[in-house]
Amino acid sequence: MNAPLPVEVLKQHLIDPEICIRCNTCEETCPVDAITHDSNNYVVDPEICNGCMACVPPCPTGSIDNWRLVVRAEAYSVQDQLGWEELPQDKPLPVDAAAAGEGGQPMPAPQAESGLAQAVAVTAAAPGAAVPPWSAAHPYVNLYTHKTPITATVVGNYRVTGVDTESDIHHIVLDFGEQPFPVLEGQSIGILPPGVDAQGRPHHARQYSLASPRDGERAGYNNLSLTVKRVTQDHGGAAAHGVCSNYLCDLAKNDTVQVIGPFGHTFLMPNHPQANLIMICTGTGSAPMRAMTERSRRLIGTADIGKLMLFFGARTERELPYFGPLMKLPRDFIDINLALSREPGQPKRYVQDLIRERAAHVRGLLADRNTCIYVCGLKGMEVGVLDALRDVVVQSGEDWSILHDALRREGRLHFETY
Ligand code: NAP
Repeated sequence: MNAPLPVEVLKQHLIDPEICIRCNTCEETCPVDAITHDSNNYVVDPEICNGCMACVPPCPTGSIDNWRLVVRAEAYSVQDQLGWEELPQDKPLPVDAAAAGEGGQPMPAPQAESGLAQAVAVTAAAPGAAVPPWSAAHPYVNLYTHKTPITATVVGNYRVTGVDTESDIHHIVLDFGEQPFPVLEGQSIGILPPGVDAQGRPHHARQYSLASPRDGERAGYNNLSLTVKRVTQDHGGAAAHGVCSNYLCDLAKNDTVQVIGPFGHTFLMPNHPQANLIMICTGTGSAPMRAMTERSRRLIGTADIGKLMLFFGARTERELPYFGPLMKLPRDFIDINLALSREPGQPKRYVQDLIRERAAHVRGLLADRNTCIYVCGLKGMEVGVLDALRDVVVQSGEDWSILHDALRREGRLHFETY
């Protein structure tokens, strides 16, 4: 008669603030808007999260994949989590609650245990794949963290856009000397800018994609490159000073930089012979495409390289990073399609317009299971690119949803957009 009421246990979803690089991917991915952030942390609202796991595979660091068994009534609130500098220790559950968690009472979310296989099954609505191409090399991730960053030395920093244009984009080369820093094309790193934010806390890391291939910006050297645009305006066009981009663009040779990472385990290039790449990018989203293109170029003569097709969007030719070196690449090595949106005297064109114009070639590549597609750059291009790919497929009388599912399942369609 007087038995205690069963206590409801929650497997609470938490984000590790020490590993999170605040890239916003989880908040954008969450289908129920359970993830929010302030200037300090990204956090999960226990009242909303249903444990669907959609946010787990896209997280480049794995900081999203943290869970604590708590009594539901004592779950960590959004306000608690926003103040954290690190995750709390596991708290022992009361005996009756622990029993409930073992099966006495239904334990709500998550729907699936942590792990990629289950996560893939429940993220069918995501536009891109949650797995890498089958032949991608093994990536190393999180070798260096906020608490244990690695020091790199600047060995190059130069502008790769016309000096008379608004787009001040820099190619920055960082050297790691004798320290191990293994990377793959498509991965990214975090830079810890010096100084503190308005609240007096150290700045969070900012994420940048590698622009160089796995064997170094200079082949055989332990270095890598980044493509960084100096931020002088916010998204609304108001004047703003990008903390990390200005820091990086102003670095001089021999300056040192604190680096964390590497990050990314899915946006990776295939390694098998005859693998084709369709690369679609805007602006500094060209970084991983440069890395993959250069990797392929260095393999010429030693491996059976597939076809490379590039769709690259920028305002004008002079604002397109790496325009000069790109145009020197042989046309039988890479099929280059430039979409210029503000070139005087020319109609405005976006990458998706060119995908439609080149429908026959794109369709031919899509029909080949050796083809992988990479999309990187502005968030806004995601929908336009998917629509264009769908149109190309539908025009040939095929079912886009079947192909789209296959591309995601087989790790052949990848997005990295911000
Ligand atoms: P941007 O100069 O603002 O834009 C590049 C081009 O994309 C312009 O021609 C622009 O046209 C066009 N564009 C605008 N909206 C579009 C849409 N909905 N669909 C297709 N094209 C569209 O580019 P950015 O400032 O370099 O930005 C690149 C993005 O890449 C940033 O969001 C950055 O965070 C991201 N990114 C950077 C890195 C890195 O390592 N640095 C890595 C991954 C991603 P109009 O403006 O003329 O309309």
